[in-house]
Amino acid sequence: MRKRSITTAMLCMTLVGTMVGCGSASQSAAAPSGAPESPAFAYQAGSYTGTAKGNNGDIALEVTFDGNAITGITVKSQQETPGISDPAFAKIPVTIVENQALGIDTIAGCTVTSNAILAAVADAVKQAGGNVDALKAKAVTAKAGNLIEKTADVVIIGGGGAGMSAATAAAQAGASVIIIEKTAALGGNTLASGLAWNAADPEMQSKMDAIPGQVETLKAVLDYNEAEFGDFTPILKTLKEQIKTYLAGDTSKMFDTVEWHTIQTYTGGKRTDAKGNTVEGSYDMITKLCSESLDTYQWFAETTGITKADKLSSPVGSLWLRGHNFAKKTDVFDYSTKFVEKNAGEVMLETKAEELIITDGRVTGVKAIKTDGTPVTLTANKGVIVATGGFGANSDMVREYNIYWPTIPDAIKTTCVASATGDGIALGLQAGANLVDMGLTQMMPTANAFSGALADALLVAPQNYLFVNKQGNRFVDETAARDTLTFAALKQTDGMFYAIDDQEMAKTVQNRATQEQIDAMVEKGLIYKADTLEALAEKIGCDPAAFVETIKTYNTYVDNNADPDFGKKMFQMKVETAPFYACPAKPAVHHTMGGLQINTEAQVLNASGTPIPGLYAAGEITGGIHAGNRLGGNAIADIFVFGRTAGTNAAK
Ligand code: ADP
Repeated sequence: MRKRSITTAMLCMTLVGTMVGCGSASQSAAAPSGAPESPAFAYQAGSYTGTAKGNNGDIALEVTFDGNAITGITVKSQQETPGISDPAFAKIPVTIVENQALGIDTIAGCTVTSNAILAAVADAVKQAGGNVDALKAKAVTAKAGNLIEKTADVVIIGGGGAGMSAATAAAQAGASVIIIEKTAALGGNTLASGLAWNAADPEMQSKMDAIPGQVETLKAVLDYNEAEFGDFTPILKTLKEQIKTYLAGDTSKMFDTVEWHTIQTYTGGKRTDAKGNTVEGSYDMITKLCSESLDTYQWFAETTGITKADKLSSPVGSLWLRGHNFAKKTDVFDYSTKFVEKNAGEVMLETKAEELIITDGRVTGVKAIKTDGTPVTLTANKGVIVATGGFGANSDMVREYNIYWPTIPDAIKTTCVASATGDGIALGLQAGANLVDMGLTQMMPTANAFSGALADALLVAPQNYLFVNKQGNRFVDETAARDTLTFAALKQTDGMFYAIDDQEMAKTVQNRATQEQIDAMVEKGLIYKADTLEALAEKIGCDPAAFVETIKTYNTYVDNNADPDFGKKMFQMKVETAPFYACPAKPAVHHTMGGLQINTEAQVLNASGTPIPGLYAAGEITGGIHAGNRLGGNAIADIFVFGRTAGTNAAK
């Protein structure tokens, strides 16, 4: 009964190009039903390229017309997020051609892309001499159907990483599963992220060259004051012994242990909030996260059959090289969907949970509504899992709860998908859930200054790039944690800065962005590129002499492996090979660390710390682990580890 998987949606996207475009002869011969022979619908026959701005750049569509109808729409170029934007490309052009109308509802979860497609077609209509207003006035509205009622052992709300991990585990445990997802595609913020999954994996890491500065960082741990580590003290003690053993041997390869990941997660999150209170993650939750991460990564790959990537990555603020990846991000959703569907599972897209059904104090189901208004009632024999993601796209809510940032600029952008509105908070509250850490939000310091998108195309690795402000000066240790980088960035002119890379560095990201994609971003003004440092300074708008001096000085720090200005400890490449790049960056809301309180069994707790019968939660909707600052790469580990636990337990 699943409506459409990402694979199917992508297939449809190709088909729109082929079917609608190539089928234009039959479409026009068949005189589309909604095309009256009024002059309002007259066109200059031919093909026209219409463009409009999408989320990540221009969308260009080739639209073909005969004398009185739009006969085909083909996607010429677009940079929208794969997976998430697919339903818009799959559905909107087909609906336009079928109905000869532009008064079409946007697709849930890809509103910006939907509107851009409609605008690009309107642009082409104008060029063909058609009447855009008349087409917009033709409304195509979906009609609500009759109540849909279904029953499964486990009902999961939200089809991001946590939801799909939970669904995989529940299906594996033999439960029947229904996943509801409010947008038209699975993925959520998980798919929009870099999908790096932190896991200490000494076997794999010991084959990889040590990152620069590794030995210095580890030596500093030996001086950590054990008295400041509370429950984590025994773990720190063990870690110190592990480090001593490592330093006594060959230090040319990566070091890592579960204990080191645990201590980094704890210290990475332990902070002081804006009122001077200490915030820190829960011992039980952090130790579970770090000790089960690798096993969960391997379980997910083995269960679904997805291909693992053979390299590790270190996303911004990860502080270590332990980010595991998959060969293709969308496979995470396609493969888990296939597994779940094979095992008595079903995915319902465009289905938004609105209310939990609570019977005698136990959560027994969900009331939902489909995008077309059709009501849905789902009964859960065993449990309901809330996996609705965070509230990063709800900036009012972020501001209302904030206890961490001195101020959150009104114009702040977000890297989050639009559906990250915190629906699960209201659902949890309805059942009496306790909320934790709601005021702790993570900013992505390096979001693209203009689009707010995750600007990882040229953010090579912290040991390589350097950041300069609008005056062309460095202002921070680029390898610092995300909140440190954000606090520093917010103090710069306009709260923005530039990540500087050279061509050799650019080559190192080409598994994520090809040279063509980088150049396309340059063309759209999202990244600056120049043949000399002076010319790059002019594009930034800073004094060329000051900028060149900054780069020269930085290069000497790379040579000397020491940064007397900001204490950077990891260095690898100098900025020396033309062309040079500057990525304009600005902090944007990225992750909400607070949410429903759960225990290590992923049961949602009430204010007295008692599990609410029948209710589980996992992923960004929960709080209690990351405290003031989440390490880059820890979100994916969190959502899959706790998603798996929620699915397994709800299936019992
Ligand atoms: P996580 O990383 O915790 O899995 P994601 O953001 O990746 O979070 O995924 C959460 C998913 O939940 C998104 O795809 C989002 O559209 C979906 N979602 C949010 N609110 C609802 C709701 N009320 N009903 C159904 N799905 C929802």
